[in-house]
Amino acid sequence: MTLIGNDEARAWLGRALQSGRLAHAYLITGPRSVGKRTFALEIAQALNCQAPDVADRPDHTCHDCRLIQRGVHPDVRVVRRAPERRLISMRPSAAPGPAREYADNVQFIQADAQLRPVMGRVKAYIIVNAEELAEDAGNRLLKTIEEPPPFVVFLLTAVERGAVLPTIASRCQEIRLRPAPRAELAKALVASGTAPERAHQLAALAGGRVGWAVSAARDTAIFEQQQIYARQLVEALSGSRLERLLRARALSERWTVQPETVRETLRVWMSWWRDVLLVQLGLFSRIVHLEEAEQTAIRNTAEQVDRATARKAAADIQQTLADLDTNVNSRLALDLLLLRLPGVR
Ligand SMILES: [Zn+2]
Repeated sequence: MTLIGNDEARAWLGRALQSGRLAHAYLITGPRSVGKRTFALEIAQALNCQAPDVADRPDHTCHDCRLIQRGVHPDVRVVRRAPERRLISMRPSAAPGPAREYADNVQFIQADAQLRPVMGRVKAYIIVNAEELAEDAGNRLLKTIEEPPPFVVFLLTAVERGAVLPTIASRCQEIRLRPAPRAELAKALVASGTAPERAHQLAALAGGRVGWAVSAARDTAIFEQQQIYARQLVEALSGSRLERLLRARALSERWTVQPETVRETLRVWMSWWRDVLLVQLGLFSRIVHLEEAEQTAIRNTAEQVDRATARKAAADIQQTLADLDTNVNSRLALDLLLLRLPGVR
């Protein structure tokens, strides 16, 4: 998969390669699923690509490019925090060379970064979700990130620069990625084989999240799941107090086991209410829910509530999303939200 949108970032990479002036550490920031890891891999590919003309790098077809794409290039490592552990772990886990025990992966990087590349020209350490880097791990990495050997580059990704340890962030050059424009994303999906109508629906729903759109194009269940979330909202809006509380209860139970599905549900609800507002404002081209059944429900709601109510519903959902992540009582927060949403016949 190549980066969609973000011509600016790509143009920057082209110029940096041409001039040969690259920093030794970059922090790639941008919203979830916008393509940060993809762009980090793109940089790693460009630095190791065998295409003779620099302007063609990365060509995505040479041996090195393909190994990096598949995540098996010996000189390119994707590093992430292991779940529930205050350390970062390596993927792939097996390091080339003689077997050796490392206390943790910071120690591995410190040692490994001193060794010359095995196959390519540049060793790249891609640290995803750098905001999760524990302080002790970050501090121990500092020296290596600051003054790595000339053949090493660090590529960190994070949603916000401000969430990364300041000592780490200040040693990285930031590359900010923006959500892909809807039309560009739709075009890319069609080019990769998605039917045009579905491509437009997904590009609209994605809200610039390229990774999400690409997954949803491959797996129809993801798209159908969004329809289900939207239907649950419509049912709740016309439902009794008891029905609303039952929906809230189901969500809060799910929150403890699958928080991401609850977040996604609330994101769908929020975009649904934004669509109601867009209909009220006559901004039809910006609506993201394009299925006919959904459009009917959205227009129906737009006629029954006023703009302030629609705006408040979207804001309440957004606030609940934020509250859930700060460890409030999830049951109470969701009960309140469901009871507060306006009624629609
Ligand atoms: Zn290549």
